[in-house]
Amino acid sequence: MNHLKHSEIAHLDRALDSRGRELRQEIRELLLQSDHEHHRDLAGMVSDEGDESVANMLADLDAAFIDRHVRELREVENAKRRLAAGTYGFCVQCSRGIDFERLAAYPTATRCFNCEAQHEKTYAHEGTPTL
Ligand SMILES: [Zn+2]
Repeated sequence: MNHLKHSEIAHLDRALDSRGRELRQEIRELLLQSDHEHHRDLAGMVSDEGDESVANMLADLDAAFIDRHVRELREVENAKRRLAAGTYGFCVQCSRGIDFERLAAYPTATRCFNCEAQHEKTYAHEGTPTL
């Protein structure tokens, strides 16, 4: 059973949706600014409420200028999938429920605070996380 209340899940669901919309919007603007016609064509396919995975669609695109956005959008889409599957909010490492406060701050978090701290210590050389 999920440790999160219905109201908390609804809140996080909305937060993920709005972040996803923001990211699609930013990706679309970046694509439109591109010099490549192919990129501008793709911009038209990035809809606000895309049912299809925009992140997957753009993954094959060799375009470093939107990489960071695509990666974050993928995290948002994955979180939405976990939400639908009922596996959202659990730490991928220790399987404990992640605090609502942490999820409210980082809706795409996949680790609890302790595991994340441990993870960052281990992989500190890979740079600071974007969130
Ligand atoms: Zn954990």
